[in-house]
Amino acid sequence: MPNVLQYRLPHDENRRIIAVESGPVMTWCYMCIDDTLKSAILFDAPFGSLQIIDEVLSEYSLTLTGLYLTHSHWDHTAEASLYVHKYSIPVYIHPADEYRLLSPMDYTMWALPFTIGAITDSEKLTEENTVESGSWFFDIKHVPGHTEGSICFYDKSAGILIAGDTLFAGSIGRTDLPGGNHNELLSSIRKELFALDGATIVLSGHGEATTIGYEKKHNPYVHDVLPSEYGL
Ligand SMILES: [Zn+2]
Ligand SMILES: [Zn+2]
Repeated sequence: MPNVLQYRLPHDENRRIIAVESGPVMTWCYMCIDDTLKSAILFDAPFGSLQIIDEVLSEYSLTLTGLYLTHSHWDHTAEASLYVHKYSIPVYIHPADEYRLLSPMDYTMWALPFTIGAITDSEKLTEENTVESGSWFFDIKHVPGHTEGSICFYDKSAGILIAGDTLFAGSIGRTDLPGGNHNELLSSIRKELFALDGATIVLSGHGEATTIGYEKKHNPYVHDVLPSEYGL
């Protein structure tokens, strides 16, 4: 059964996030809502999410204006084409991850009990771009390592990072799949994510929410201490 959570921002009545965790490997997607403008954008599109997201949109009379993908692994893109058909919205992805969207069933790693539709006309997002929706304003961090074109979305005023599969509470993204690179992932996390304010809330593609500050201190995969400081 999917899980649904709501995050409210302190001191901001206008913005909130609905998070839905669904699909065979329990993948989170996050819908960022502006309640004044009645608009919303969605980050990632796991299997089983559309029905719930659609109910939320109807209940609050919201208009969904875009789908933003953190990367193109199937568990994050399974229903992307369904969202496009239902709402006629653009799909955004980093150019280096587009290839899996073009023929998703060639990259599923194992047989799935459902078919994923291709997306051939995605819009491209790089660090040069920003994502604006109502009062939401996201900078884009290109964080290669889990996949070539993984990106994180950072809203400074909200103190929120949509992290995809790059950084998890107490863990990091796997790098043993095609397109993965362990050293690149560590360097992306250190350079792009650990530079952010420690209070930033990290909403990941799997598992619990965490903060940048907590992971900087406790994440066993990306500790700040160099081996030389251990006397090695
Ligand atoms: Zn992934
Ligand atoms: Zn994932």
